[in-house]
Amino acid sequence: MPRPDVIVIGLGAVGSAAAWQLARRGLRVLGIDRWHPPHAMGSTHGETRITRTAIGEGEQFVPLVRRSDEIWAELEEVGGEPLGLRCGALIIGAEGGTTEMHGRPGFVAGTVAAACSFNVPHEVLTADECRRCFPAFHPSDSDLVYYEPGAGMLFPERCVAAQLQAARNAGADLRLGEQVLAQQPIPGGVRVTTDKGVYEAAEAVIAAGAWAPGFAPHALARATVTRQVLHWLQPDDPALFEAGRCPVYIWAHGATSDDSFYGFPLVPGAEANGVKVADEQFLHPLTDPDLVERDTTDDETAALLADHLDGRLSGLARTALRRATCLYTSTPDAGFILDRMPGADRVTLVSACSGHGFKHSAAVGEQVALMVHEGRRSVPDGFSPAA
Ligand SMILES: Cc1cc2nc3c(=O)[nH]c(=O)nc-3n(C[C@H](O)[C@H](O)[C@H](O)COP(=O)(O)OP(=O)(O)OC[C@H]3O[C@@H](n4cnc5c(N)ncnc54)[C@H](O)[C@@H]3O)c2cc1C
Repeated sequence: MPRPDVIVIGLGAVGSAAAWQLARRGLRVLGIDRWHPPHAMGSTHGETRITRTAIGEGEQFVPLVRRSDEIWAELEEVGGEPLGLRCGALIIGAEGGTTEMHGRPGFVAGTVAAACSFNVPHEVLTADECRRCFPAFHPSDSDLVYYEPGAGMLFPERCVAAQLQAARNAGADLRLGEQVLAQQPIPGGVRVTTDKGVYEAAEAVIAAGAWAPGFAPHALARATVTRQVLHWLQPDDPALFEAGRCPVYIWAHGATSDDSFYGFPLVPGAEANGVKVADEQFLHPLTDPDLVERDTTDDETAALLADHLDGRLSGLARTALRRATCLYTSTPDAGFILDRMPGADRVTLVSACSGHGFKHSAAVGEQVALMVHEGRRSVPDGFSPAA
């Protein structure tokens, strides 16, 4: 390949989207990833991600998820394979929806407000209606229960694979199993050094997820990386957890973002895996994502049940069929950073989107491509600047 126009560092959810969106605009793209995405080392594995249109983290994200939905639909048409399933979402908040999720106080009340502002089809259910429609769920009368029938789940590994294939089809050169060690400005461009070679390009994009702060410690000083654990549990009555009968769900039941959990119905065709349930852990940020503890314990599943599920969600076994660890990279306001690197304006920085970014990642990649392709220097609407 002649000298690329742009090197994309990291080809996970955001980087695969950016590589494709850049290549389809006619740019010569070199994409580099340390592992072989889709893989289970970063933030984009575990088979499912929730997608919803009324975004309680902030109404600025609604146009972004709507654009992502268009892109997923385009990819599904090209690849002929479903990238998700619209099985509805229940979003439940204690104390009338005032509790916090992803750093947003009033997350569920904000979800209802976003649905009203953007005409997202939804219902606010009484606790009794919720219990009757979805018998495994036991909200209390003071909970705010939001139901969005058009929401559901995406299959992240398939989405990444589809975008990488689309990027290749559009001419991108993708080098997998190659680790970027450093990037530095040179006159008229950027030099990227890997464990296998040295490349130069007019521009670079850092989409390295949990590893992005390592490339830009000052610019991403506000981002913290935390270990998250996913648990797959066997339902006592699988019929109650079939997609269609059971929606995806988020339940913010206490004062802080640590007092919440979320989960999924059985995935059609993979019912033997059980249902995936998880909480969110923000208390112990990692100094280096490479040092994350990948092993998980039965005690962690016991804590998930005791702290979150007991009394709220019934009908699941008390031991996990399987667990996995995953990495969140979060900013204090759960916003998404997309900016030129301070002091190196041929480098575009994009953050890993604070535990709620997968549903937006296709459109985030498109915004990255627009910034690079059109030479934009300003932060796009709805995104946050680097520090
Ligand atoms: C447990 C969990 C549950 C989540 N649930 C949801 C949800 O339900 N809904 C939702 O919308 N979002 C959710 N998210 C958030 C969403 O999944 C992330 O925002 C998104 O996947 C982040 O993508 P990314 O591209 O930034 O990171 P990644 O996909 O991890 O990509 C980063 C890539 O950079 C590569 N890389 C790193 N260092 C280097 C290097 N030195 N050289 C080359 N390559 C490198 C890595 O190999 C990796 O492939 C969840 C996240 C987690 C962890």
